[in-house]
Amino acid sequence: MTTTPPAEIGMSLEDVDTPALLLDLEAFEQNLDRMATAIADKPVKLRPHSKSHKCAVIGMEQMARGAVGLCCQKVGEAEAMVAGGVHNILVSNQIVGRPKLLRLAALTKQADWIGVCADHPDNVDQLNEAANAMDATLNVLVEIDTGAARCGVAPGQPTIDLAKKIDSATNLDFAGLQAYQGRAQHVRSYAERQQAADAGIALTKDTVEALSAVGLECEIVGGAGTGTFQFETAGGVHNELQAGSYAFMDADYGKNLNADGGFFDDFEHSLFVWVTVMSAPTEDRALVDAGLKALAMDSGPPVVAGMPEIEFGRASDEHGILDISKTNHPVRLGDKLKLIPGHCDPTINMYDWYVGYRGDRVEALWPIVARGMLR
Ligand SMILES: *Cc1c(COP(=O)(O)O)cnc(C)c1O
Repeated sequence: MTTTPPAEIGMSLEDVDTPALLLDLEAFEQNLDRMATAIADKPVKLRPHSKSHKCAVIGMEQMARGAVGLCCQKVGEAEAMVAGGVHNILVSNQIVGRPKLLRLAALTKQADWIGVCADHPDNVDQLNEAANAMDATLNVLVEIDTGAARCGVAPGQPTIDLAKKIDSATNLDFAGLQAYQGRAQHVRSYAERQQAADAGIALTKDTVEALSAVGLECEIVGGAGTGTFQFETAGGVHNELQAGSYAFMDADYGKNLNADGGFFDDFEHSLFVWVTVMSAPTEDRALVDAGLKALAMDSGPPVVAGMPEIEFGRASDEHGILDISKTNHPVRLGDKLKLIPGHCDPTINMYDWYVGYRGDRVEALWPIVARGMLR
């Protein structure tokens, strides 16, 4: 069930109901343009991660700026993106279990290119069976663990063994390596972040060469997020970048540091949760109508846009508690505020609509079609 949008096109921002997910279209478009420009003359392509935005309209905006396709994390996300017009999808994740595998294989009939990752020989067998049952061919990347300690086989021989198995399967094509260093993304110091990314890049390079030596060429070497894309771009082995959060820049990414020691500012905050002050019981406390069910708190609380001296403290289900003791700005009942989410992806997943605005006017309502796609 999709709820009714909290806004109508043409209305002023002040009239948008709360809580709502706002997208500053100027900042958003600038972020997409900046990424496209940053890699325009580099030997890498962009395959943005749609787990961040979960919105086919945004996926198409990225495609219009040169993206080769999208990454998805779930089959349901992939289905939603294909239905919305994006026909080149890499599921940058492991898909296990027959119902999902059959859906994935079926998607090949509607899309131009469908890929998926594997890190276990049994999963390769299951992928091949499902593809065979649907009379389809799936592209499979071997996911390697380059230091993130999430999924992935060890680089080197285990990767070669798995790639050979994929290559010899009747209904699978070996398509390359998934080499994403998730842990490196939010390392604050630039030098340490670079070190973590470069260590992963070196392992990836060795593995690509070892595969080539046995006759297995990697069409795709994918990885990188918003925190490290410069390093993979310069690294000379990745050819697809998978950044997702760059479109929005959450508060957490705003805490990363640049080479000059200043805060990471390659991209602008474009995403906000629009809230109303629903109670102002004391001089130093105000409550807004967005709590744990409207804001992800896993990467820390949101930041009040333009008023960082107001501290967002605790949140309960439907309350966000603000410490207003350090601000000179009056905070009154009924006031509306923009919050920069701590973590964009899980926050977006709580909403049905982006309310896109320019200046003071609502310009677009985009459905978050892959919201809640856990399968
Ligand atoms: C989340 C994710 C990304 C995108 O990372 P951002 O930090 O949002 O830019 C890229 N690749 C994979 C495999 C991911 O899981």
